[in-house]
Amino acid sequence: MSSARVGVLALQGDFAAHAAALARLGAEAPEVRRVAQLGGLDGLVIPGGESTTLLNLMGDEPWFDALRGFHAAGGALFGTCAGAILLAREVTGPRQPSLGLLDAVVERNAWGRQVDSFETRLKAPALGGDLSAVFIRAPRFRSLGPGVEVLASLDGEPVLVRQGRVLAATFHPEIARDDRLHAYFVRGLVAG
Ligand code: GLN
Repeated sequence: MSSARVGVLALQGDFAAHAAALARLGAEAPEVRRVAQLGGLDGLVIPGGESTTLLNLMGDEPWFDALRGFHAAGGALFGTCAGAILLAREVTGPRQPSLGLLDAVVERNAWGRQVDSFETRLKAPALGGDLSAVFIRAPRFRSLGPGVEVLASLDGEPVLVRQGRVLAATFHPEIARDDRLHAYFVRGLVAG
């Protein structure tokens, strides 16, 4: 279907499931472990995992400059959970560095201890109906800039947002065995 090259950042976290979803959609989905591997990609998925660990691993190479450059040159980015935290303009709970490619304030681990992981259905009209979503020690979008569009909400709170070529979900779409969100990314943002 698609011949887009959409890499998956494979430093840490749930990258294999993302690569499998992209491959089912016909995209080439190389695992990206070095900055130089961003060359030639049309899009990149930054998977969930643990954002502090990701940040530590990203210290080995100039990842922040490279990812900002990738975005500036027209690359599309899809961050899920820890990946969404990394994309944000500001991170709280506690504060930590982030890429600033999504005009949002994101609070880490913000669903409270009682419900720190759960699965639910989301209303996502932009994706053609309900979407199953798994939240694992998930962050919350605490404020969104005017250029950020909400694509899905949970109890009135944004959980899936888009700003231009940047897509961010506070949940894990790769676990639910529903490839519509990856399809939206590949067909709407990468190819769009
Ligand atoms: N709690 C993690 C963090 O703060 C994110 C969890 C996830 O990616 N599932 O980075």
